[in-house]
Amino acid sequence: MKAVKTVKTVENRSKGVELSYQTWAEIHLDRIERNVRTIRSRLPAGCKMMAVVKADGYGHGAVQAAAAAIRAGADELAVSRLDEAVRLRQNGIDVPILTLGPIAPREADIAAEHQIAVPVFQAEWLRDMRESRTSPKPLPVHIKMDTGMGRIGIRTKREFEEMLPLLAAGGIDVKGVYTHLATANQADTGYCEKQLARFAEMRGWLDEAGFRDVTAHCANSAAALRDPVYAMDMVRVGASIFGIHTCDEEVRGRHGVPLLPTLSLHTTIIHVKRVAAGECIGYDRSYTAQDDEWIATVPLGYGDGCFRGYAGLELLVDGERAPIVGNICMDQLMIRLPRHYPVGTKATLIGRQRDEAVTLDDLARHIGTIPQQVLLMIAARVPRVYLRE
Ligand SMILES: *Cc1c(COP(=O)(O)O)cnc(C)c1O
Repeated sequence: MKAVKTVKTVENRSKGVELSYQTWAEIHLDRIERNVRTIRSRLPAGCKMMAVVKADGYGHGAVQAAAAAIRAGADELAVSRLDEAVRLRQNGIDVPILTLGPIAPREADIAAEHQIAVPVFQAEWLRDMRESRTSPKPLPVHIKMDTGMGRIGIRTKREFEEMLPLLAAGGIDVKGVYTHLATANQADTGYCEKQLARFAEMRGWLDEAGFRDVTAHCANSAAALRDPVYAMDMVRVGASIFGIHTCDEEVRGRHGVPLLPTLSLHTTIIHVKRVAAGECIGYDRSYTAQDDEWIATVPLGYGDGCFRGYAGLELLVDGERAPIVGNICMDQLMIRLPRHYPVGTKATLIGRQRDEAVTLDDLARHIGTIPQQVLLMIAARVPRVYLRE
C-alpha cells in the first residue's frame, strides 16, 4: 500500500506548515474505485451512473472521492449544495454535476456559468430566477417529482402546468427528471411500486409537453443494487460506493453485492500507565479499575467525531480489542490494554487489525443510527490520508 498523497490539509489548517498527526482517517481510493466498478457491472447496458459525493463525499473528501469514482467509470456527479458543486469545478472536475437540493434563485447565473444542473419544482423559484439572470448561458435543470418521499418536488399536474411556460421561455435546458424512493431499502416493494407508477405518469407530462432527451432517474444505492427495474436512464449512488449497504439484511442477502469499506480511523497511544484496582478514570470517575490494569490514552475524542455514546465499544490495538474506559473527552479517551504497549502504538476505532475489525455498522448499531452518520461525525480536523493500492 502506497500513500499517493499524505495529508489533505483541512482548510486553514496549519497553512504552509507540514505537521505530523496522531489521529487520522485513511481513505482507500482503490476500494471506492472497486465499489464503483462492482455497482457498474450490475447495471443494465446504457444506464448511466451518477456518483453522489454530497457532504464532502460522505466524509471522505468530495474532490478525491469524485475523482476516484470518475476513474472507475462514473458518468455524472451529485452534491447537495451549490458551493459543493463549485468546489468540484474549481478542482478541475468537468463531468455533469447536479445539486440535489435547490439553490437560491439569484445564484442561477453562478450555476449556469459553471454548468451545474439544479433541481426545479416551484414556479415561484423559476420566476425569481428569471428576474435575476444576466448570463446568456442556459441553466441546466432536472425537474424534481415528489412521488411519495414527501421531501421536495412537485406532486400535482397543476404545479407542473404552472411551471411549464417558465420552463419553455428559454435560458433553461431541461436535462433530467427525477424522484426519490422512500422505501427502496425494505423487503416489501409495495410502496416503491406505487412511487414508480406515479413517476411513470409524471414523466408522461414531460412527453406531452414535448421535452426530448430527458434523463429519468429514481434509484439510490438500495434501489440500484436490488433490481434493474429501478435503474431507468441513470442511478444515483452514494452510500454503496463508500461500502455501505443500505438495504435491509433480507434484501442484501438476496442480491449479495460485495462492497468494500473505504474509510478507516486510527489514532496513536500517547500515554500508558499502570493503574491499581479501585483507581478511577475519566470525568465523573466514570470508570473504576477492577484489577491492576494497563490504561492508555489516545488523542481521539468527541471533537474528532468519536461520539460519547461509543463508550462501551472497543478500539483495536495490535490486533486485539481494547475497551474504551471512562467518559470520552473532547480530545482524548482512555482504553484498557490487554498488556503493556509503548507510547506510539497505533489504535484503530474504525477498520481492521489482523483478524479483528470494527465496522461502521458496529458503531452505528451501538448508538442507534446509520453508518452514514458515523462517517459524517468524523470532524474536519481529522486529516484524511489518501491511499491507493
Ligand atoms: C443522498 C441521495 C442519494 C444517494 O443515496 P444513497 O442511499 O446514499 O445511495 C440519491 N438521491 C438523492 C435525492 C439523495 O438525496
